[in-house]
Amino acid sequence: MSQTSVPSVLDSMSVWHRRGSLHFAGSFVVLVLATIVTGSVDRDSVVVLVAVPLLAAVSASVLVLTGWADRQWSLLMWPLIPCLSIGALDFVAPQAADLVMGLVVLSFLFIGVSQPPLWGLWFVAPAAVLYEQVLDLGVGDMVVRVPIAAVVWVVCSEVPARLVEELRRKNASLVELATTDSLTGLLNRSRLEVHLDVAGPAGAVALIDLDHFKRFNDSHGHVAGDVALMDFATVLASETRSHDLVFRYGGEEFLVVMANTSPEEAALVLGRVRESWRGHGSGLTFSAGVTFGGASAVHGADILLYAAKAAGRDRVVVDTARGEPAVV
Ligand code: GH3
Ligand code: MG
Ligand code: MG
Repeated sequence: MSQTSVPSVLDSMSVWHRRGSLHFAGSFVVLVLATIVTGSVDRDSVVVLVAVPLLAAVSASVLVLTGWADRQWSLLMWPLIPCLSIGALDFVAPQAADLVMGLVVLSFLFIGVSQPPLWGLWFVAPAAVLYEQVLDLGVGDMVVRVPIAAVVWVVCSEVPARLVEELRRKNASLVELATTDSLTGLLNRSRLEVHLDVAGPAGAVALIDLDHFKRFNDSHGHVAGDVALMDFATVLASETRSHDLVFRYGGEEFLVVMANTSPEEAALVLGRVRESWRGHGSGLTFSAGVTFGGASAVHGADILLYAAKAAGRDRVVVDTARGEPAVV
């Protein structure tokens, strides 16, 4: 049995690309304003300023068309293009470039919130070259100002990157807590509908109920009952296949979703569970109903489970889709 990977509850890549494009647009507006304010509007600077959004549009299109826009590193284009633009502007409108050099800090901030920790460090050296080129620092100034700027850039990228990483970890454990049954460690039913939809019509659903469990509790005590539930969960988890999903449906009821599974294969899996559980020696048996067909299958499995109970328990009733359900 495999627990599905924890779904991300953090924002999707498209939301991050939207934020990145806003960061880019804001930086671009500042670039244009700086060019106007410093009186640097001439043919060359207009060419640079037209080329900047074109470069962004082409880069974004390439990323989308090649499918790379889904990768986290693709977000780097949004902070990197403004920095390249400052470098280009420095050749045609040096005063304007001087004025907007502070935007580099915002780019490091964006790298921090959108990339894993340490990624910002890769950009410190190129940013230092840009800093030196734009501000035309002498050696004395460079030795003092570049390290200070580098520290600011590292702090601006590393602090948010580590906070986001921490948030991601906490989110993952919250999702795990919310989707896991605390007694057995199996999945609880909170995301069952989603998994049933994914399994689709060819997915088998087995609803399993321990027989006379109340009697077991009454004679052995609830603590022993809890241990039996945990043991049964372990048997279920180990005897189902790696791609099957095992849920504690409630009380002493369990549910297995088996994607792309024939009635024969489903019966085989449950037969294995029965053999293994028998060997466990608690004396408890189980009944089960197995049907197919997404979300509605649970209701069908419930009906067959009751049929198994009515027929004397300790059996599995499988919907064969050929008329009569099979009893195994
Ligand atoms: P049947 O064969 O018809 O399913 O009979 P049953 O006794 O198993 O079913 P019934 O619904 O009468 O009783 C279910 C019992 O499961 C009653 C309840 O106390 C027990 N149970 C439910 N959840 C837990 C649990 O978490 N721990 C323990 N120890 N018992 C539980
Ligand atoms: Mg029950
Ligand atoms: Mg029962």
